[in-house]
Amino acid sequence: MVIESNLDKEYAGITGVPAFAKAAAVLAYGSGCDAIADDRIAITQSISGTGALRIGGEFLARFYPSSKKIFIPTPSWANHNAVFKDSGLEVVKYRYYDKNTIGLDFDGMVEDLKAAPAGSIVLLHACAHNPTGIDPSREQWKQLSEVVKEKKHYPFFDMAYQGFASGDTEGDAFPVRHFQSQGHQFCLAQSFAKNMGLYGERVGAFSICCESAEEKKRVDSQIKILVRPLYSNPPVHGARIASKILTDPDLKQQWLKEVKGMAERIISMRALLKENLEALGSKHDWNHITSQIGMFAYTGLKPEQMDQLAREHSVYATKDGRISVAGITTGNVKRLAKAIHEVTS
Ligand code: PMP
Repeated sequence: MVIESNLDKEYAGITGVPAFAKAAAVLAYGSGCDAIADDRIAITQSISGTGALRIGGEFLARFYPSSKKIFIPTPSWANHNAVFKDSGLEVVKYRYYDKNTIGLDFDGMVEDLKAAPAGSIVLLHACAHNPTGIDPSREQWKQLSEVVKEKKHYPFFDMAYQGFASGDTEGDAFPVRHFQSQGHQFCLAQSFAKNMGLYGERVGAFSICCESAEEKKRVDSQIKILVRPLYSNPPVHGARIASKILTDPDLKQQWLKEVKGMAERIISMRALLKENLEALGSKHDWNHITSQIGMFAYTGLKPEQMDQLAREHSVYATKDGRISVAGITTGNVKRLAKAIHEVTS
Protein backbone atom coordinates (compact mmCIF):
# COMPACT_ATOMS: atom_id res chain seq x y z
CA MET A 1 0.00 0.00 0.00
CA VAL A 2 2.83 2.38 0.83
CA ILE A 3 4.58 1.68 -2.47
CA GLU A 4 1.32 1.97 -4.41
CA SER A 5 0.67 5.39 -2.95
CA ASN A 6 3.69 6.44 -4.99
CA LEU A 7 5.11 8.88 -2.47
CA ASP A 8 8.29 10.80 -3.15
CA LYS A 9 11.59 10.19 -1.37
CA GLU A 10 12.17 13.73 -0.20
CA TYR A 11 13.72 14.30 3.21
CA ALA A 12 11.50 14.07 6.25
CA GLY A 13 11.78 16.88 8.77
CA ILE A 14 14.35 16.51 11.56
CA THR A 15 11.83 14.74 13.78
CA GLY A 16 10.63 12.40 11.03
CA VAL A 17 7.25 11.51 9.57
CA PRO A 18 4.73 13.48 11.69
CA ALA A 19 1.88 10.93 11.37
CA PHE A 20 4.21 8.21 12.61
CA ALA A 21 5.38 10.09 15.71
CA LYS A 22 1.81 10.94 16.63
CA ALA A 23 0.66 7.32 16.26
CA ALA A 24 3.68 6.03 18.21
CA ALA A 25 2.80 8.33 21.12
CA VAL A 26 -0.79 7.06 21.17
CA LEU A 27 0.40 3.44 21.10
CA ALA A 28 2.69 3.97 24.10
CA TYR A 29 0.84 6.50 26.24
CA GLY A 30 -2.74 5.47 25.36
CA SER A 31 -5.41 7.37 23.45
CA GLY A 32 -7.03 8.79 26.59
CA CYS A 33 -3.77 10.05 28.04
CA ASP A 34 -3.93 13.53 29.56
CA ALA A 35 -0.31 14.30 28.59
CA ILE A 36 -1.31 13.85 24.92
CA ALA A 37 -4.46 15.92 25.41
CA ASP A 38 -2.40 18.65 27.11
CA ASP A 39 0.17 18.53 24.28
CA ARG A 40 2.99 17.87 26.76
CA ILE A 41 4.76 15.05 24.93
CA ALA A 42 7.80 15.99 22.88
CA ILE A 43 8.30 13.15 20.40
CA THR A 44 10.65 12.48 17.53
CA GLN A 45 11.05 9.57 15.17
CA SER A 46 14.38 7.84 15.86
CA ILE A 47 16.74 5.30 14.32
CA SER A 48 14.87 2.46 16.05
CA GLY A 49 15.17 1.84 19.79
CA THR A 50 18.95 2.25 19.92
CA GLY A 51 18.72 5.68 18.29
CA ALA A 52 15.97 6.68 20.72
CA LEU A 53 18.15 5.69 23.68
CA ARG A 54 21.04 7.62 22.20
CA ILE A 55 19.00 10.81 21.69
CA GLY A 56 17.85 10.45 25.31
CA GLY A 57 21.42 9.90 26.52
CA GLU A 58 22.66 12.96 24.61
CA PHE A 59 19.74 15.09 25.80
CA LEU A 60 20.24 14.18 29.45
CA ALA A 61 24.02 14.54 29.28
CA ARG A 62 23.50 18.06 27.94
CA PHE A 63 20.52 19.25 29.95
CA TYR A 64 19.82 17.11 33.00
CA PRO A 65 20.42 19.45 35.92
CA SER A 66 21.35 16.91 38.63
CA SER A 67 23.76 14.00 38.56
CA LYS A 68 24.88 12.65 35.17
CA LYS A 69 24.73 9.11 36.49
CA ILE A 70 22.27 6.69 34.93
CA PHE A 71 21.31 3.62 36.93
CA ILE A 72 20.67 0.51 34.83
CA PRO A 73 19.61 -2.97 35.98
CA THR A 74 22.05 -5.84 36.52
CA PRO A 75 21.97 -7.38 34.01
CA SER A 76 20.67 -5.17 31.23
CA TRP A 77 20.71 -5.21 27.44
CA ALA A 78 24.44 -5.18 26.68
CA ASN A 79 24.25 -2.04 24.52
CA HIS A 80 22.76 0.15 27.28
CA ASN A 81 26.15 0.58 28.89
CA ALA A 82 27.84 1.61 25.62
CA VAL A 83 25.03 3.91 24.46
CA PHE A 84 24.90 5.87 27.71
CA LYS A 85 28.67 5.93 28.23
CA ASP A 86 29.22 7.27 24.72
CA SER A 87 26.51 9.87 25.37
CA GLY A 88 28.61 11.20 28.24
CA LEU A 89 26.64 9.72 31.14
CA GLU A 90 28.17 7.67 33.92
CA VAL A 91 26.60 4.22 34.03
CA VAL A 92 25.89 2.74 37.46
CA LYS A 93 24.09 -0.53 38.24
CA TYR A 94 21.15 -1.42 40.44
CA ARG A 95 20.27 -4.95 41.55
CA TYR A 96 17.64 -6.69 39.45
CA TYR A 97 18.23 -10.41 38.91
CA ASP A 98 18.44 -12.92 41.74
CA LYS A 99 20.43 -15.91 40.56
CA ASN A 100 19.22 -18.04 43.46
CA THR A 101 15.55 -17.75 42.55
CA ILE A 102 16.16 -17.06 38.83
CA GLY A 103 13.67 -14.26 39.51
CA LEU A 104 13.46 -10.59 40.39
CA ASP A 105 15.47 -9.25 43.31
CA PHE A 106 12.76 -6.70 44.06
CA ASP A 107 14.02 -5.86 47.57
CA GLY A 108 17.55 -5.37 46.26
CA MET A 109 16.24 -3.19 43.42
CA VAL A 110 14.23 -0.99 45.79
CA GLU A 111 17.14 -0.77 48.24
CA ASP A 112 19.50 0.37 45.48
CA LEU A 113 17.04 2.92 44.10
CA LYS A 114 16.56 4.27 47.61
CA ALA A 115 20.32 4.43 48.18
CA ALA A 116 20.98 6.25 44.86
CA PRO A 117 21.55 10.01 45.18
CA ALA A 118 18.26 11.91 44.97
CA GLY A 119 17.45 13.00 41.42
CA SER A 120 19.33 10.15 39.70
CA ILE A 121 18.38 9.00 36.22
CA VAL A 122 16.98 5.44 36.32
CA LEU A 123 16.64 3.24 33.26
CA LEU A 124 13.64 0.91 33.44
CA HIS A 125 12.78 -1.82 30.92
CA ALA A 126 9.06 -1.21 30.41
CA CYS A 127 8.26 -4.84 29.55
CA ALA A 128 9.91 -8.14 28.60
CA HIS A 129 13.21 -7.31 30.30
CA ASN A 130 16.17 -8.23 28.12
CA PRO A 131 18.07 -10.48 28.88
CA THR A 132 16.21 -12.01 31.84
CA GLY A 133 12.55 -12.08 30.70
CA ILE A 134 11.68 -11.13 34.29
CA ASP A 135 9.38 -8.12 34.84
CA PRO A 136 8.08 -6.53 38.03
CA SER A 137 4.39 -7.23 38.71
CA ARG A 138 1.88 -4.37 38.48
CA GLU A 139 1.91 -4.07 42.27
CA GLN A 140 5.69 -3.82 42.20
CA TRP A 141 5.54 -1.17 39.45
CA LYS A 142 3.25 0.86 41.67
CA GLN A 143 5.77 0.61 44.50
CA LEU A 144 8.60 1.53 42.13
CA SER A 145 6.66 4.61 41.07
CA GLU A 146 6.45 5.64 44.74
CA VAL A 147 10.16 5.06 45.38
CA VAL A 148 11.14 6.99 42.24
CA LYS A 149 8.84 9.83 43.23
CA GLU A 150 10.07 9.90 46.82
CA LYS A 151 13.69 10.09 45.66
CA LYS A 152 12.87 12.56 42.86
CA HIS A 153 14.61 10.23 40.40
CA TYR A 154 14.14 10.72 36.67
CA PRO A 155 12.79 7.59 34.91
CA PHE A 156 13.96 6.62 31.44
CA PHE A 157 11.77 3.83 30.01
CA ASP A 158 13.10 1.55 27.32
CA MET A 159 10.14 -0.15 25.61
CA ALA A 160 11.63 -2.32 22.87
CA TYR A 161 9.01 -5.08 23.11
CA GLN A 162 5.56 -3.51 23.47
CA GLY A 163 3.09 -6.35 22.86
CA PHE A 164 5.68 -9.11 23.06
CA ALA A 165 5.37 -9.71 26.79
CA SER A 166 1.67 -10.45 27.16
CA GLY A 167 0.48 -10.21 23.57
CA ASP A 168 -1.43 -7.07 24.49
CA THR A 169 0.14 -3.73 23.57
CA GLU A 170 -2.07 -1.89 26.08
CA GLY A 171 -1.21 -4.16 29.01
CA ASP A 172 2.50 -4.11 28.22
CA ALA A 173 2.47 -0.30 28.37
CA PHE A 174 1.20 -0.40 31.96
CA PRO A 175 4.42 0.87 33.60
CA VAL A 176 4.70 3.85 31.24
CA ARG A 177 1.02 4.72 31.61
CA HIS A 178 1.05 4.24 35.36
CA PHE A 179 4.07 6.51 35.82
CA GLN A 180 2.41 9.07 33.56
CA SER A 181 -0.80 8.93 35.58
CA GLN A 182 1.21 9.45 38.77
CA GLY A 183 2.57 12.74 37.46
CA HIS A 184 6.13 11.66 36.67
CA GLN A 185 8.07 13.41 33.98
CA PHE A 186 10.24 10.92 32.09
CA CYS A 187 11.75 9.85 28.78
CA LEU A 188 10.72 6.91 26.65
CA ALA A 189 12.50 4.96 23.91
CA GLN A 190 10.27 2.90 21.60
CA SER A 191 11.27 0.35 18.99
CA PHE A 192 9.12 -1.17 16.24
CA ALA A 193 11.82 -3.68 15.30
CA LYS A 194 10.29 -6.59 17.19
CA ASN A 195 6.56 -5.90 17.37
CA MET A 196 6.31 -5.00 13.67
CA GLY A 197 9.17 -7.16 12.43
CA LEU A 198 10.75 -4.00 10.99
CA TYR A 199 14.27 -4.66 12.34
CA GLY A 200 16.17 -3.42 9.29
CA GLU A 201 13.90 -0.44 8.65
CA ARG A 202 15.09 1.16 11.93
CA VAL A 203 11.74 2.52 13.09
CA GLY A 204 11.57 3.96 16.60
CA ALA A 205 10.56 6.97 18.61
CA PHE A 206 12.00 9.00 21.45
CA SER A 207 9.74 11.06 23.64
CA ILE A 208 9.86 13.19 26.74
CA CYS A 209 6.75 13.58 28.85
CA CYS A 210 7.07 17.22 29.88
CA GLU A 211 5.54 19.37 32.58
CA SER A 212 3.63 21.69 30.25
CA ALA A 213 2.94 22.44 26.59
CA GLU A 214 5.27 25.41 26.89
CA GLU A 215 8.14 23.24 28.18
CA LYS A 216 7.40 20.70 25.44
CA LYS A 217 7.99 23.39 22.81
CA ARG A 218 11.40 24.20 24.24
CA VAL A 219 12.29 20.49 24.52
CA ASP A 220 11.19 19.90 20.89
CA SER A 221 13.46 22.64 19.70
CA GLN A 222 16.45 21.28 21.67
CA ILE A 223 15.82 17.76 20.34
CA LYS A 224 16.02 19.18 16.82
CA ILE A 225 19.30 20.91 17.65
CA LEU A 226 20.64 17.54 18.92
CA VAL A 227 19.42 15.40 16.04
CA ARG A 228 20.49 17.69 13.17
CA PRO A 229 24.25 17.12 13.57
CA LEU A 230 23.75 13.44 14.45
CA TYR A 231 21.94 12.32 11.26
CA SER A 232 19.95 15.33 9.94
CA ASN A 233 16.67 13.41 9.63
CA PRO A 234 15.50 9.80 9.85
CA PRO A 235 14.58 7.42 6.98
CA VAL A 236 10.98 7.56 5.77
CA HIS A 237 9.98 4.16 4.43
CA GLY A 238 9.73 2.14 7.66
CA ALA A 239 7.96 4.99 9.43
CA ARG A 240 5.42 5.16 6.61
CA ILE A 241 4.76 1.42 6.98
CA ALA A 242 4.37 1.72 10.76
CA SER A 243 2.13 4.78 10.60
CA LYS A 244 -0.06 3.15 7.94
CA ILE A 245 -0.56 0.13 10.18
CA LEU A 246 -1.21 2.23 13.28
CA THR A 247 -3.65 4.65 11.67
CA ASP A 248 -5.71 2.34 9.41
CA PRO A 249 -8.29 0.70 11.74
CA ASP A 250 -8.40 -2.62 9.81
CA LEU A 251 -4.63 -2.92 9.55
CA LYS A 252 -4.26 -1.99 13.20
CA GLN A 253 -6.65 -4.78 14.24
CA GLN A 254 -4.84 -7.25 12.01
CA TRP A 255 -1.49 -6.21 13.48
CA LEU A 256 -2.71 -6.46 17.09
CA LYS A 257 -3.94 -9.96 16.32
CA GLU A 258 -0.59 -10.90 14.82
CA VAL A 259 1.35 -9.50 17.79
CA LYS A 260 -0.88 -11.54 20.08
CA GLY A 261 -0.32 -14.65 17.95
CA MET A 262 3.42 -14.13 18.11
CA ALA A 263 3.45 -13.63 21.89
CA GLU A 264 1.21 -16.66 22.39
CA ARG A 265 3.45 -18.79 20.21
CA ILE A 266 6.41 -17.80 22.38
CA ILE A 267 4.43 -18.61 25.55
CA SER A 268 3.49 -22.02 24.17
CA MET A 269 7.13 -22.75 23.18
CA ARG A 270 8.15 -22.02 26.78
CA ALA A 271 5.63 -24.57 28.04
CA LEU A 272 6.75 -27.11 25.45
CA LEU A 273 10.42 -26.71 26.37
CA LYS A 274 9.62 -27.20 30.06
CA GLU A 275 7.42 -30.21 29.28
CA ASN A 276 10.14 -31.81 27.20
CA LEU A 277 12.78 -31.26 29.89
CA GLU A 278 10.51 -32.84 32.48
CA ALA A 279 9.67 -35.76 30.17
CA LEU A 280 13.39 -36.43 29.83
CA GLY A 281 13.55 -36.77 33.62
CA SER A 282 15.39 -33.52 34.34
CA LYS A 283 15.60 -33.02 38.09
CA HIS A 284 15.93 -29.24 37.84
CA ASP A 285 13.12 -26.83 38.55
CA TRP A 286 12.29 -25.26 35.17
CA ASN A 287 9.34 -23.15 36.35
CA HIS A 288 11.23 -19.96 35.53
CA ILE A 289 11.05 -20.86 31.82
CA THR A 290 7.29 -20.40 31.89
CA SER A 291 7.13 -17.61 34.46
CA GLN A 292 9.49 -15.38 32.48
CA ILE A 293 8.06 -13.44 29.57
CA GLY A 294 9.06 -11.96 26.24
CA MET A 295 11.42 -13.17 23.60
CA PHE A 296 14.14 -14.39 25.91
CA ALA A 297 14.48 -17.02 28.59
CA TYR A 298 17.22 -16.79 31.15
CA THR A 299 17.85 -20.47 31.67
CA GLY A 300 20.17 -20.22 34.64
CA LEU A 301 22.76 -22.28 32.69
CA LYS A 302 26.39 -21.46 33.48
CA PRO A 303 28.90 -20.21 30.88
CA GLU A 304 30.60 -23.66 30.76
CA GLN A 305 27.22 -25.27 30.07
CA MET A 306 26.50 -22.75 27.30
CA ASP A 307 29.91 -23.58 25.78
CA GLN A 308 29.08 -27.27 25.96
CA LEU A 309 25.70 -26.63 24.29
CA ALA A 310 27.49 -25.03 21.34
CA ARG A 311 30.39 -27.47 21.17
CA GLU A 312 28.52 -30.73 21.57
CA HIS A 313 25.01 -29.89 20.38
CA SER A 314 25.40 -26.97 17.94
CA VAL A 315 22.97 -24.93 20.04
CA TYR A 316 24.16 -21.35 20.05
CA ALA A 317 23.10 -18.76 22.62
CA THR A 318 24.78 -16.13 24.77
CA LYS A 319 27.16 -17.14 27.57
CA ASP A 320 24.92 -15.59 30.23
CA GLY A 321 22.47 -18.46 29.66
CA ARG A 322 19.96 -16.44 27.65
CA ILE A 323 18.15 -18.29 24.87
CA SER A 324 15.87 -16.77 22.24
CA VAL A 325 12.49 -18.42 22.71
CA ALA A 326 11.48 -17.04 19.30
CA GLY A 327 13.97 -19.52 17.83
CA ILE A 328 12.18 -22.54 19.33
CA THR A 329 9.72 -24.45 17.14
CA THR A 330 7.72 -27.65 17.51
CA GLY A 331 10.30 -29.14 15.14
CA ASN A 332 13.41 -28.36 17.22
CA VAL A 333 12.18 -28.24 20.82
CA LYS A 334 12.87 -31.94 21.50
CA ARG A 335 16.43 -31.67 20.38
CA LEU A 336 16.94 -28.46 22.36
CA ALA A 337 15.50 -30.02 25.52
CA LYS A 338 17.72 -33.08 25.09
CA ALA A 339 20.78 -30.86 24.70
CA ILE A 340 19.91 -28.75 27.75
CA HIS A 341 19.19 -31.91 29.76
CA GLU A 342 22.54 -33.42 28.81
CA VAL A 343 24.58 -30.37 29.83
CA THR A 344 22.68 -29.91 33.09
CA SER A 345 22.66 -33.50 34.41
N1 PMP B 1 16.41 -2.03 24.10
C1 PMP B 1 16.41 -3.33 24.35
C2 PMP B 1 16.17 -3.79 25.75
C3 PMP B 1 16.62 -4.24 23.32
O1 PMP B 1 16.61 -5.55 23.60
C4 PMP B 1 16.84 -3.78 22.02
C5 PMP B 1 17.09 -4.71 20.88
N2 PMP B 1 17.69 -5.88 21.10
C6 PMP B 1 16.82 -2.39 21.81
C7 PMP B 1 16.60 -1.55 22.87
C8 PMP B 1 17.02 -1.70 20.51
O2 PMP B 1 16.78 -2.35 19.36
P1 PMP B 1 16.60 -1.60 17.98
O3 PMP B 1 17.64 -0.52 17.91
O4 PMP B 1 16.81 -2.66 16.97
O5 PMP B 1 15.22 -1.07 17.98
